[in-house]
Amino acid sequence: MRKFFLSALLVLTVCVIGCAQQKNSSDANQIPTEVATPENSSQEQSAPQAQPDKDYILAADDLSNLQLDDPTKPVYDKYILWERQEKNLPCVLPDLQPYDAKSVVYLTFDDGPDDKVTPQILDILKAENVKATFYVCGNMVETYPDVLKRIFNEGHAIGNHSYNHRYNELYASPWAFMEQIIQTDNAIKNVIGVRPFIIRAPGGVGMFNGDYWSMIDSCGYVEHDWNALTEDATPSKPNASQQVNNVLKYLGDNPPRSVIILMHSNSDKTETVKALPELIHFLRDWGYTFGVVTPMTPQPW
Ligand SMILES: [Zn+2]
Repeated sequence: MRKFFLSALLVLTVCVIGCAQQKNSSDANQIPTEVATPENSSQEQSAPQAQPDKDYILAADDLSNLQLDDPTKPVYDKYILWERQEKNLPCVLPDLQPYDAKSVVYLTFDDGPDDKVTPQILDILKAENVKATFYVCGNMVETYPDVLKRIFNEGHAIGNHSYNHRYNELYASPWAFMEQIIQTDNAIKNVIGVRPFIIRAPGGVGMFNGDYWSMIDSCGYVEHDWNALTEDATPSKPNASQQVNNVLKYLGDNPPRSVIILMHSNSDKTETVKALPELIHFLRDWGYTFGVVTPMTPQPW
C-alpha cells in the first residue's frame, strides 16, 4: 500500500514540478535545490540563515537523528519529498517517542503569514522570550516571504497549512490535499531553504473523509490539531479578554500537561494580538513552559 502511495505521489510531484517549471520558464530556473539559498540572496532583505543544531534541528539524510527530548527546537528537512525520492532516501519517519516534558504549551498560529498581525505577534513573542509555531499557507508565503524569513530566523517553528486553504479543493481527495502540501513545501523551501515535517489540516482532521492518514504517513508528515483555542476565527469574533477566557474554559480545572492552543495570524486578528500577552502571562504563572511543534510533540487527543 505504501509503495503504491509513493509511486503515485512521484507521478503527482513530477506533475507539480513540471507545472512550476513551465510557469517559470521565462525566469531563471526556480526549481528548489538542496542548497539552502533564498531566492534573493544578493538583496539586503535576505536575513542570515539560522544555524543547524543551534536554532533548529536539521534532519539527517536517513532521518536517524529525530528522536529528541528538547521541545523548544524546531525540526526541518533540507530535502522536499521529491528530492528524497530522487536520492533514494527514506520519506517515512521512524517511530518517534513523544516528548516527556511536563507542562508544555504550544502556541500555534494558522493562516499566515501576513504583514500586519504576524509581525505584531512576533514582536510580543520576542518581548516575552517565547517560541511558537506558525502553520502557514503557501499562497501567503509567496506574498509575504520576508515575514516567513523573520519567523524562521527568530527560532519559531513553521508548519504546512496547505496552499490555498480551500476546503472544497483540499478535501476532494487525499491526492488533492497532498498536492497542496507539496506545493507549500516548495514555497517554504524557496524562502528559507528547508521544509517542515509538521502539517495542520485546515479545519482539523475532522475534515478527512478518506484515506488521508495513509497518505500523510507514507509521505513522512505529522499532523497536529489542538486541545484548546481562543475561538478567534469563530463568527462570534471574541474580544481579547473573551479569548483568554475561552482558553481557560478549554483547560478546565485539571489542565493537560501538554497543551496545543489554536490561534490565527491573518490580518483581521487584532484581538488575538491584544490577548496574547495576558495569555502568555497566565500560562507561565501556571507553570507552563513554551515549546514548538515537531514530530515528537504529543498529540492533543
Ligand atoms: Zn486555517
